[in-house]
Amino acid sequence: MQTIQQTGLSSLEAQLAQDLEFLELPAKPWVPERKHDGKPVLDVVVIGGGMCGLAATAKLILSGITNVVAYDAAPAGLEGPWVTFARMQTLRSPKGLSGPSLGLPQLTFRAWFTAQWGTQAWHLLDKIPKGQWMDYLVWYRKVLGLPVRNGVRMTGVTPVDDLIAIDIDGAETGRILTRRLVLATGRSGLGGFAVPDFLKGVDRAYWAHSADDIDFTALKGKRIAVIGAGASSMDNAATALEAGAGAVDMLIRRKDMPRINKMTGIGSQGVVHGMHELPDAWKWKFVDYTATTQTPPPRSSTLRVSRHANARFLLDCGIVTVREDGDGLLIETTQGPLRYDFLIAATGFSNDFDGRPEFAALAPHIRKWSDGRQTPDMGPPRRGMSEAPDLGPSFEFRERVAGACPILARIHCFNDAAMLSHGKVSGDIPAVSAGADRLVRGIAASLFAEDVDTHFANLVAYDTPELHGDEWTDSTPFLHKETAA
Ligand SMILES: Cc1cc2nc3c(=O)[nH]c(=O)nc-3n(C[C@H](O)[C@H](O)[C@H](O)COP(=O)(O)OP(=O)(O)OC[C@H]3O[C@@H](n4cnc5c(N)ncnc54)[C@H](O)[C@@H]3O)c2cc1C
Repeated sequence: MQTIQQTGLSSLEAQLAQDLEFLELPAKPWVPERKHDGKPVLDVVVIGGGMCGLAATAKLILSGITNVVAYDAAPAGLEGPWVTFARMQTLRSPKGLSGPSLGLPQLTFRAWFTAQWGTQAWHLLDKIPKGQWMDYLVWYRKVLGLPVRNGVRMTGVTPVDDLIAIDIDGAETGRILTRRLVLATGRSGLGGFAVPDFLKGVDRAYWAHSADDIDFTALKGKRIAVIGAGASSMDNAATALEAGAGAVDMLIRRKDMPRINKMTGIGSQGVVHGMHELPDAWKWKFVDYTATTQTPPPRSSTLRVSRHANARFLLDCGIVTVREDGDGLLIETTQGPLRYDFLIAATGFSNDFDGRPEFAALAPHIRKWSDGRQTPDMGPPRRGMSEAPDLGPSFEFRERVAGACPILARIHCFNDAAMLSHGKVSGDIPAVSAGADRLVRGIAASLFAEDVDTHFANLVAYDTPELHGDEWTDSTPFLHKETAA
């Protein structure tokens, strides 16, 4: 069995290699070498070796931009949420998505899966186990030989002339220079955890964010509150229940659970390629509507909670205050006071830069939607949208004040925070290849334009003859004679 599986994967890898050869990929490197004070300069640094970072790095290299390095703070194989704080059992998305495959059939999850377990197993598979998705991403990186360096955190970004200096720490330390920076930093890409005001000041011994590293065994027998009605709240509640929690209450502000996954329902290539071209008011309208109607948790995740007799769904239960006392947590809700030992806040992420000291030098200069792109006809400011960065066509930041920080045009926000400007092409699985394509086209065009003198000089200097002069006979004198007669 083991041998068959290995043969399957190596045969897939051989097919992939052949496809790449047929397509003449990777394209030949074309970006002129750049130095600064005699030291080498990278063409692109990608921060983040999760799914978006891998797709972006792969697309850059396939496009002949090869002087590229990706860094990830996490150890290899632990990038992103999949085997760390994602507490679902399977992916939320359907299994057939082409994900980061960049248009190459042999790079899809399906090809990777069927090469090892066969077509019948594929048909029997319901949703992708999250650990298996991580295994696939590990393979993706390996088979493409992507230059990802793990255990390296970016700690600062500063402009140096027309370059970007990046401070790194961890397995590699120091300052590196690059011409372009791609921030594939994930769902909390520019900010951190979104923490409701009522939790500020509450002792962290009594609560955790759903993306924290939570010791669920310590919750055995305890009374647990989980805030939220989204996928992560279900996953965390279920994990607590399965670990033997005494009782778990889902505290849900809404009167009813969101039931319909609206954006998935209208998913199409039109949405993928058309959203970022829409007028701003329309972009706002789509994102605002989706935020208002909310995305329901998957049915299987909800059942994973409700099948426990000691789980309760408390709807219309807004939280007024939370405080700790001798008996744990006392939560005042719109339904009255409730007591718990521990609370898990599945309250999502923010993009307000507060949680990211590495962006301190840039943050004040980054233009947001609230800096003029959001107009009164779009309605009142909305948290999560108003502070979204106002990005250019290749995910590049824009300056709040023209000329104050021009390097921003070379820094690309390829993460969840790009959604309002670009649609969902830089976070979720379905359209990440389209996002990587859009990103890399922009980077390629801007690098080419920046080096145009060199490219023109190369044009002038190019002297390999196509014709050697022996391919034809010059009959011009004869023609002249005819004309003269
Ligand atoms: C719990 C959960 C479940 C999800 N399930 C699904 C799903 O089923 N289907 C779907 O389509 N989408 C899902 N998503 C959304 C999305 O697909 C994932 O968030 C996905 O991981 C996005 O990939 P990414 O590369 O943008 O971010 P990540 O995978 O989070 O990768 C970002 C990487 O950047 C690194 N990093 C960040 N800052 C730095 C720094 N300063 N220096 C160095 N490294 C840094 C991090 O270590 C991390 O590995 C889920 C998201 C979450 C949170």
